[in-house]
Amino acid sequence: MKRDLNEIADRSFDVAIVGGGITGAGVARHAALAGLNTVLLEGSDFAAGTSSRSTKLIHGGLRYLAMGHVGLVRETALERKHLFQMAPHLTEPQWMLVPAASRLELAKLQLGISAYEMLGAVGGRDRHHNWNARALAQEEPLLNRELFPYGCAYREYLTDDARLVMATLRAAVLLGASVNNYVRVDSLRPQSDGTLLECRDMLTQQPLSLRASVVVNATGPWAEQLVTGERGQPSRLHLSKGVHLGLLRARLPVRNMVMLTAADGRPVFAIARGSVTYIGTTDTTAEGGPDLWPEVDQSDVDYLLEPLRRYFPQAAITQNDIVSAWAGLRPLVNQPGKAPKEMSRKEEVWRDGRVVTVAGGKLTGFRKMAEQVMTEVGSILRRDVELETPMAVLPGGGNPDLAGLMQQIRNRYGVDEQGSRRLMRLYGSEVFAVLGDTPTPITPTVFAEEVSWALDQEAAVKLEDVIYRRLRIPWFRPEESVVVAQAAADLLAVKFNWSTEELAREREELESRLHHDLTFRRS
Ligand SMILES: Cc1cc2nc3c(=O)[nH]c(=O)nc-3n(C[C@H](O)[C@H](O)[C@H](O)COP(=O)(O)OP(=O)(O)OC[C@H]3O[C@@H](n4cnc5c(N)ncnc54)[C@H](O)[C@@H]3O)c2cc1C
Repeated sequence: MKRDLNEIADRSFDVAIVGGGITGAGVARHAALAGLNTVLLEGSDFAAGTSSRSTKLIHGGLRYLAMGHVGLVRETALERKHLFQMAPHLTEPQWMLVPAASRLELAKLQLGISAYEMLGAVGGRDRHHNWNARALAQEEPLLNRELFPYGCAYREYLTDDARLVMATLRAAVLLGASVNNYVRVDSLRPQSDGTLLECRDMLTQQPLSLRASVVVNATGPWAEQLVTGERGQPSRLHLSKGVHLGLLRARLPVRNMVMLTAADGRPVFAIARGSVTYIGTTDTTAEGGPDLWPEVDQSDVDYLLEPLRRYFPQAAITQNDIVSAWAGLRPLVNQPGKAPKEMSRKEEVWRDGRVVTVAGGKLTGFRKMAEQVMTEVGSILRRDVELETPMAVLPGGGNPDLAGLMQQIRNRYGVDEQGSRRLMRLYGSEVFAVLGDTPTPITPTVFAEEVSWALDQEAAVKLEDVIYRRLRIPWFRPEESVVVAQAAADLLAVKFNWSTEELAREREELESRLHHDLTFRRS
């Protein structure tokens, strides 16, 4: 993956995709698979928007089943299997424990989960099982068994959203697409045979333009802003804010993913990753327009800590245990009169001349969404666009034996269980290409070669790109942020020939970013 604006300026493409989140990445891969001359333009870094802020579940969503969205649940539940084939390291099966207060509640839960499993064609050892209080004492010792003496554990899949974006984009590049971060599209000017895209290089502020027969607007929360140019809260979409908080894992060492019920009946997940257990999410109307870094408020924190106190009273979690936090915006299709939590997660694709806009949907359904978009693109271009069968493996997806891969990583690099899991998740079967024979550790689990890989293969150009969206440090290993950022900054300075002032500016920007994540702690 290489940002090369000289290669794209003033050129004409079959398809230009605006937005480098999972939706845009999926469409770029599909367009390139179909043999179209494809360019993708991302105004910030890849996955800088909603696609790095999700709960990271590849799921159909039990909650949506209860809301009656059977079609959506079936499609996404089945899609999990396809994603596992394409990228097993980014689709890791885990047990999701749903605690129950009574036998009746357990029975109802089991009914819903059985239907979910039927829709997703789940079989064999992946089918759910129930735990009584004795089993729960073993399986989830911190759970309040007085209030929740029963539990049902069913299979869900965990991904890394930003890494899924990177892998999908790299697949697109391998198929011939050009993908470029830090190129913002300022306007779309219709022409007789396509569209002129007027853009800006966000690193130099230089303008550039290019042409495309079809434009795919995959800007998620910004989708209406791109086509109307208007700022503020959109009308066709409803932006809903979702917050996650990371607690020190040692303070809440959950052994499974756990689904809690918040005071308003919504599910809130507790998921261990790296040195944190993250909890989320909220679902409230985002005031104002789309923003890359929505604020985490005290009310978000209160909402998420409340169920923790009921489910894990022994852990006695307080605000001081929060070590990382992030917020993202869901671009939901507006349903006037409904609260965000009631709105459908189904995607919508609409066409305005030669511009196809896609918004809504879920990370899980990105491949199906791309197929839908390509049908529109094909009809505009009057070309047949074939569907993808069989699924092509994404970079890093070459080894479905995840336990075996982790063992190989441990043997070769001497890292512990958590360290090998981290490397397996980030790089899959490419891990040996990333680290080589004798990698240089920055910390016992993070290596300098990862920074080089991010710069050389994954088009990172800023310190923030490397440590937030490639190495995933601040949210999942926050105690290592400073030391990894320092080492990474030195490597970036050499790669990009930064002056002392430029290096100092990058470091300052990152420091203020890291502080901003936890602003609510000081309010
Ligand atoms: C809190 C939360 C939890 C979620 N959890 C899950 C989950 O567990 N599982 C699941 O399947 N889904 C989940 N989702 C939904 C999922 O994350 C989103 O559906 C998905 O990430 C949307 O991706 P996107 O590419 O459409 O948008 P984004 O990822 O926001 O991408 C849009 C991109 O467009 C760029 N852009 C904007 N304007 C321009 C411009 N003018 N020029 C160039 N680029 C531009 C932005 O910088 C951005 O990178 C969750 C969402 C949230 C908010």
